[in-house]
Amino acid sequence: MKKKVVVLGAGISGLARAFALKEHFKDEIDLKILDAASRPGGWIKTIEKEGFLFEQGPRSLRTKGAGLQTLALVEKLGLEGEVIAASQQAKYRYLYTEGSLQCLPTNIFSFFGSKLMKGVLPALIKEFTKAFDPSQDMSIKEFIGKRFSDSIADRLFDPLVSGIFAGDIAALSMRSSFPMIYQMATRDGSIGKALMKQIFKKQGKEAMHSPFIQAIQKSPIFSFKRGMQTLVDGLSCHLDKELFLGCSIKSLSFNGSSIELLSECGEVFLADELHVAISAKCLSALVEGAAPLIAGELLSLKATSVVVLNMGWRELSFPYKGFGYLIPTSEKEDILGVVWDSSVFFEQNNSEKETRLTVMLGGVHRQDICKLNDEAICAIGKAALQKHLNIKTSPDVVHLVRAPSSIPQYNRGHEDTVSSIEKQIAKWSRGKIYLIGSSWRGISVNDCIAEGLVFSLTR
Ligand SMILES: Cc1cc2nc3c(=O)[nH]c(=O)nc-3n(C[C@H](O)[C@H](O)[C@H](O)COP(=O)(O)OP(=O)(O)OC[C@H]3O[C@@H](n4cnc5c(N)ncnc54)[C@H](O)[C@@H]3O)c2cc1C
Repeated sequence: MKKKVVVLGAGISGLARAFALKEHFKDEIDLKILDAASRPGGWIKTIEKEGFLFEQGPRSLRTKGAGLQTLALVEKLGLEGEVIAASQQAKYRYLYTEGSLQCLPTNIFSFFGSKLMKGVLPALIKEFTKAFDPSQDMSIKEFIGKRFSDSIADRLFDPLVSGIFAGDIAALSMRSSFPMIYQMATRDGSIGKALMKQIFKKQGKEAMHSPFIQAIQKSPIFSFKRGMQTLVDGLSCHLDKELFLGCSIKSLSFNGSSIELLSECGEVFLADELHVAISAKCLSALVEGAAPLIAGELLSLKATSVVVLNMGWRELSFPYKGFGYLIPTSEKEDILGVVWDSSVFFEQNNSEKETRLTVMLGGVHRQDICKLNDEAICAIGKAALQKHLNIKTSPDVVHLVRAPSSIPQYNRGHEDTVSSIEKQIAKWSRGKIYLIGSSWRGISVNDCIAEGLVFSLTR
């Protein structure tokens, strides 16, 4: 009899893991991927509305770091021809501060001329020489405040964190939220020293990658001509026979040595091995009956809600060029920031004259916004665009998406909680259940893919 392997959740984490399992075991296992939704992809969803391409979730991926695994996956799926690099203009990123947009420096000259960089140089020098004690799990605010300055934490890191986690820098753990920066400081005693080392070590490395990867890595970010959905479609196509959609699992328990998954419609799925690719909160509900202590600890891992407001104009004179802007919390604005989609990925535009913008709202500091009705949220979005960008013309097309509990918050103590949960799950399931996905060790699509694919190397 073939080993029964179930992947629970067909978001990008579950799809990547299923792809790796299928590639490794081929027909040797009986593989099933279960998802409650009627489509795979989880938060990744691209739509076409009245001629505009809108991303409802993620819209761009980094080419470096964990992006390398995503690009390797793109090659395996034969999707290289669909990949698009961000425009040159996308390197211009702005902060809305003290009533105007300020461009973040892109080179050493703009660094010295930038209002935003006031006080940064002395803080960099201080960081270079200040010893680092990695024993404490510090918040981002504490870490950046101690190593650089409080002002850098509030003016520069706070908006960056809003853009990634929609979170609170005083609550989020530096170690868990930015593990690479944290590891650099741990390894070399200072982030500055680690960066210097990297600069001098770099030569010669790029030549090892394929020509496709080398070419796309010239741009810092990428997407697909028809949006992020392309990646989901590519994976789903490969996993067509294994995908079971519309299959909401309501409980997870053991029946002898088999894992038993009971669906809302009464169907029972048995597994010898289970790869859980749903959020900590969703998993908590499933194990509440069979493992209440684990369920309780799972609920201590928090996630915040955001609202994504896509807007499209067929003809608008939009003078700005760049990726978009973020807003420090201290500015007390109603939105988190705006992505200038049509300026980032030209190839996704239907005409040269179109403008596509995405307003991000909600997050830890503004959960009140998520409770408003669609009309009120749209009004807030439009008012922000008028105030920040002087856009007075109403968009031709608007699309609003609510993403409840979609962005995990790796608060202080996250790493300890995750390892405690993993130990308990391993003990309870006798090593038959694996946890993957954005709740644990990285929220970017690249992190989710890298974790999903790593299976074949570790087992
Ligand atoms: C608005 C937004 C913008 C983002 N922007 C970016 C970006 O630009 N770049 C980037 O890298 N990342 C971005 N992210 C983060 C990234 O998209 C997510 O972290 C990632 O997609 C999570 O994938 P996942 O597979 O782990 O989880 P999910 O996408 O949540 O998938 C989990 C799946 O499990 C299923 N499921 C849940 N419970 C059950 C159940 N009981 N039974 C059956 N199925 C179940 C769900 O239906 C879902 O399909 C963004 C996220 C959001 C919300």
